[in-house]
Amino acid sequence: MRDLLGGKGANLAEMTHLGLPVPPGFTITTEACNAYSASGKFPPGLEAEYLKALAAVERQMGRKLGDPKNPLLVSVRSGSKFSMPGMMDTVLNLGLNPASLKGLMAQTGNERFGYDAYRRFLMMFSDIVLCSVAKRPDGKPLNLDRHRFETLLDEMKEKRGVKQDTQLTAADLKELCEQFQRMIHKEWGRDFPADPKEQLAMAVEAVFRSWNNKRAVDYRNFHRIPHNLGTAVNIQTMVFGNMGEDSGTGVAFTRDVATGQKAVYGEFLMNAQGEDVVAGVRTPMKIAQLAKQNPPIYKQFDKICTRLEKHYRDVMDIEFTIEKGKLYILQCRVGKRTAAAAVKIAVEMVRERLISKAEAISRIEPAQINQLLLPRFDPEGKAKAIKEGRLLAKGLNASPGGAAGLAIFDADRAEEIGSTGKRVVLVRPETNPDDVHGMLASRGILTARGGATSHAAVVARGLGLPCVAGCEAIRVDEEKRLFRVNGKVLKEMEEISIDGTTGEVFAGAIPTSDPDFQKEKDLIALLGWADKIRRLGVWANADYPRDARKAREFGAEGIGLCRTEHMFMEQERLPIVQKMILASGPAERKKWLDQLLPFQQSDFEGIFKAMTGLPVVIRLIDPPLHEFLPSHDELLERVTELRTELKAKKSPKLSKELEAKQKMLAAVEMMREANPMLGLRGCRLSILMPEIVEMQTRAILGAALKVKKEGFDPHVKIMIPLVGHVNELKTVREKLEAVAKQVLAASKTKLDYKFGTMIEIPRAALTANEVAKVADFFSFGTNDLTQTTFGFSRDDAEGKFLLKYVEDKILPENPFQTLDAAGVGKLMRMAVQAGRKANPKIELGICGEHGGDPRSIAFCNGIGLNYVSCSPFRVPIARLAAAQASLAISGPADK
Ligand code: PEP
Ligand code: MG
Repeated sequence: MRDLLGGKGANLAEMTHLGLPVPPGFTITTEACNAYSASGKFPPGLEAEYLKALAAVERQMGRKLGDPKNPLLVSVRSGSKFSMPGMMDTVLNLGLNPASLKGLMAQTGNERFGYDAYRRFLMMFSDIVLCSVAKRPDGKPLNLDRHRFETLLDEMKEKRGVKQDTQLTAADLKELCEQFQRMIHKEWGRDFPADPKEQLAMAVEAVFRSWNNKRAVDYRNFHRIPHNLGTAVNIQTMVFGNMGEDSGTGVAFTRDVATGQKAVYGEFLMNAQGEDVVAGVRTPMKIAQLAKQNPPIYKQFDKICTRLEKHYRDVMDIEFTIEKGKLYILQCRVGKRTAAAAVKIAVEMVRERLISKAEAISRIEPAQINQLLLPRFDPEGKAKAIKEGRLLAKGLNASPGGAAGLAIFDADRAEEIGSTGKRVVLVRPETNPDDVHGMLASRGILTARGGATSHAAVVARGLGLPCVAGCEAIRVDEEKRLFRVNGKVLKEMEEISIDGTTGEVFAGAIPTSDPDFQKEKDLIALLGWADKIRRLGVWANADYPRDARKAREFGAEGIGLCRTEHMFMEQERLPIVQKMILASGPAERKKWLDQLLPFQQSDFEGIFKAMTGLPVVIRLIDPPLHEFLPSHDELLERVTELRTELKAKKSPKLSKELEAKQKMLAAVEMMREANPMLGLRGCRLSILMPEIVEMQTRAILGAALKVKKEGFDPHVKIMIPLVGHVNELKTVREKLEAVAKQVLAASKTKLDYKFGTMIEIPRAALTANEVAKVADFFSFGTNDLTQTTFGFSRDDAEGKFLLKYVEDKILPENPFQTLDAAGVGKLMRMAVQAGRKANPKIELGICGEHGGDPRSIAFCNGIGLNYVSCSPFRVPIARLAAAQASLAISGPADK
């Protein structure tokens, strides 16, 4: 139903069936929109069909569109299968013309109300419909955007000396309507269309066209919504929240979508239209206030909320209007929520027996839980900011998390500056859909107006951006690009910080700190359920004991990759590593390696202790050795400089330096390769300089033996990288097995260990049947496997052409982020099958970056890997994604 009627249309139909007070209406299908998009014309019969449906509504209401005595007014709204809040168009009060306006005023006995509805309609129809479907007499686009109308409105308020729209009289509004019509005529060369059927046809066309407006296309690209779905058009009887103090309008969620708390959460405004709440022009009241102001209506509303939640088994976002004391539900949809709320609501709904554990797991977007694990303000940094008097103001805590960055006052600038990698906080009086591109490039959003359901708040929550909204103490001057607050002025490019969890706004940047996973009780419960459902193991890539501890805290069941070379890079070790590399022969090299051994061993001891009882895969040295040496160009430059200086003046100190630098340069030159990533690295290096990996094997086993004696339970797996031919693996393994035997014999302790290899060269995947006979395990190094399969340099491709490939859709995704299932994945699948056939006990995992990417995880689950390994912070995401992958294959039965 949603495919055809869109989310909004389907929900309206469903609510009508439930007997809820929904204003009568009908829906034009997405198919009609697609037909329009294809041909640029309404499909044959469309108009006749919707006019028939309109006639049915007219009969039901006892009113007619354009009737001078008893006019029907309708809204025309877009609504696609997936919610795209504010991205497409809506027109209200359609059907008004001079005659029906009189009827409306007679019917309501309220002249002011009539002119107010009319001026809103003139503005909205011009801005949205005329600008889309009409042209100026000279063929140029019409300039009738809402700002031109708002300027006239502001001028009128100024002329009358009033602040609020509601303070304008019927006569003022009448005059405004006349001004609007004159402006329209001048721009368009035609009178505003009086025929309601013409209005309707134009509005339907504009809604169809809005499916392909730029902001809708951008939004779909960002959220990966297909472009061929089309929008439905909902035509519905208007009800009015601005008919006086017994009328009102609001937006509410059945639970708090910021925190997940179980209480109706939302806002309303009396004597107002829906757009006033959403646009954030007036600051609305909390829904709890309605319970005091109008208990019977609140009770009825509360009941409807419970009913809808039970029916949809989810949190609903509901728009309602009270017209002269009667409640109407205008629309409902599944409520967007923060990550924290999503997790809490899912877990509580399981406990309330509303949904199953499997459903709870399927409802959370794995990437979303990242938000719960993302940096927040460092409490000390924040306390310091408060003490220093940098707390500027407090607004609404619209979307949680802390953000610090440069204050930028318009979306284009935010996009421009944000795309250079600088942190930006977008500051706006209020946001609207035209600002989305700037919001996407920002770390946080601050608005002066609007509530928790304002555009800024809703979009920020969806994007996982911290947002402080409705911060009325700040006065934004867009022209001068600054804001004033309590006598202070903050200009563009000055740093500010916003706390979307508390609503506080600060001058200057506040440092951020890691969140406390242990306090995320709901997330821990949810991940616990995920663990029971998933088949894939989740391990972590960790090089240091502290990373291993973090990974274990996040639920990692092993270390899938410890890159030992990172330990070589540490400050006190690098000089020894360099001497080892520059050694004149194996004997001298051994001397330096002996000095490195205790460092490596102590690192491994820490990791084995942190991971006691769980597997730890330690990879032997992998990169080309030049990575540990100074850069060739810098050395050359310094040598030249020194030579020039020494020619001018003798200096024993400089001579010594020259000698050392020349030696280093000679060594670097000797090691230089045109293609180092395809050169002397990985197992090739181990074959040419076996002393390094022999030392590493000693350090690994020495560490394991030591911690075992201390009562820990190390599970040792030694991994040999970059194997392309089985003989490479054989050669290295034999050598290292001999070392292992020696170490164990000397210690007289029993210790189990395994040798395996990475599959990161296509040849290894293609000959996995041979390689598997010599390996206890395979770990797919999909970073290199992607590099070598595509022939794309993993260091340069993204900067040079790959992102453009993705942008131009030459490639569907960046293959270094999401596994290329058709190519790289095919090699993996072959290697899994051949490897298992040759060695049924072989253990199979992945340790490239793809191990933490949800879609790649689903692929790994599908080809039957035993585990995925990813960075510690992605472990919770991987646990959830792995469970979702299992559910997708086996169906949503709880285990
Ligand atoms: C890989 O190639 O996928 C891998 C994990 O190794 P590295 O990134 O260290 O080359
Ligand atoms: Mg690699």
